[in-house]
Amino acid sequence: MGDERKRGKPLVLVASPFQGHMTPMLQLGSVLHSKGFSITMVHTKLNSPDPSNHPEFEFLPLFDNFLAIDASANFTTFLEALNDNCKMQLQDHLAQKIREGRDDEMITIIHDNIMYFAEEVANNLNLPSIVLRSSSASYVPAFLALPKLHAKGQLPVKDSMLQELVPELHPLRYKDLPFNRTSTEVATEMLALSERIRTPSAIIWNTMEYLEYSALTQLRQRYQVPIFAVGPLSKMVRCPSTSFLKEDTNCISWLDKQAPRSVIYVSLGSLATMDKTELAETAWGLANSNQPFLWVVRPGSVCGSVWIEFFPEGFTEEIRGRGLVLKWAPQKQVLAHSAVGGFWSHCGWNSTLESISEGIPMICRPVMGDQCVNSRYLSSVWRIGLELEHLERKVIESAIRRLLVDDEGKEMRQRAIHMKEKAKHSLCNGGSSFKFLNDLVEFLLIQTRL
Ligand code: UDP
Repeated sequence: MGDERKRGKPLVLVASPFQGHMTPMLQLGSVLHSKGFSITMVHTKLNSPDPSNHPEFEFLPLFDNFLAIDASANFTTFLEALNDNCKMQLQDHLAQKIREGRDDEMITIIHDNIMYFAEEVANNLNLPSIVLRSSSASYVPAFLALPKLHAKGQLPVKDSMLQELVPELHPLRYKDLPFNRTSTEVATEMLALSERIRTPSAIIWNTMEYLEYSALTQLRQRYQVPIFAVGPLSKMVRCPSTSFLKEDTNCISWLDKQAPRSVIYVSLGSLATMDKTELAETAWGLANSNQPFLWVVRPGSVCGSVWIEFFPEGFTEEIRGRGLVLKWAPQKQVLAHSAVGGFWSHCGWNSTLESISEGIPMICRPVMGDQCVNSRYLSSVWRIGLELEHLERKVIESAIRRLLVDDEGKEMRQRAIHMKEKAKHSLCNGGSSFKFLNDLVEFLLIQTRL
């Protein structure tokens, strides 16, 4: 395909203010820019990306009227206000751009699925739109099943049902369902919100065909639009840091001093929180495992504290030399380091893909949303993760040793390395993600031609 045909074709990418959504959108922007498209990155003022990391993009900030994401506030109310506050600004900007634009080019909007206002703007201006999904594909059938389960009176899930398999959602148990622990009200609100998200002309999914073949097949049947599985985006192109928080790179020289595959890396992503008791159990579980550890404690992630004021007495002295605590890590670099042998994660989808991409087995401690589904797949289908059932020091200590020292962990590592190879293969010429990316580029070229 001649480069001339796609040179500078305009794409408007609409990102959401969540780290786990912003990262794949920026990565997708880098991938599509490398294919010759011109990229405008639309984002909220809240959690803005750093434009200096992406001089190749044009940035359009929208005034969203929020100062922070309040994890304890009502999520649907937040999303609705965010979408309402941004809509007219984007519409006015694009209407003007169209008036000034070249005759033979049409803007295509690619938006994060929770930034559904962009879909309305596309409709109002007669522009094509595509959605980027940054969760696992396997999560969606579980999410879509919620109304039926709700109608049967099975939500919220009763304690006695938690370990049972959900009919028609193999391999998920009731405890793996999204929103299983929240009130019926929250689940109903989330479903009402999902009704507002209509079917776009295509979906880009940050996943791999081999990894989620069954879910992707179901979703293609349901949506009847092309689904381009182009993951893992983090490995598709070199993309500068996408972090909102400053990455502490000192940990790399610390890792350099550790034995190969000896370190457990611990991070619960950008949103999950823990209370003081959970902090103490985690701290002593890590210390008592006798394995070196790298632990990300995000500022504000321990309820009621600024950072690590609630560390138990004696912990800092106890771990000196064998444990490093930091505020935010260069996670992809950490997972690629030869000293890292395991990843204790909340199983956010980016973290899951990043771990798979480096062949690192996991300890799974999901907190919300798609994480429970991801955790189940990691532990029971792909068999590269250990479920951490209880956040108790003895259980943690034992899980770390099972993963890093025991034969069980070695077998998981072998499977993880095999998955890494498959992920690598999917990105090479002839692989599925490589092919889907080319298909996506063709699709976009047709969309952007008037
Ligand atoms: N991350 C990071 N440094 C950290 C912790 C997380 O760079 O110390 C990145 C991680 O690499 C991933 C993202 O933050 O790309 C978290 O996304 P994920 O989907 O795993 O979880 P979420 O934050 O959405 O819960």
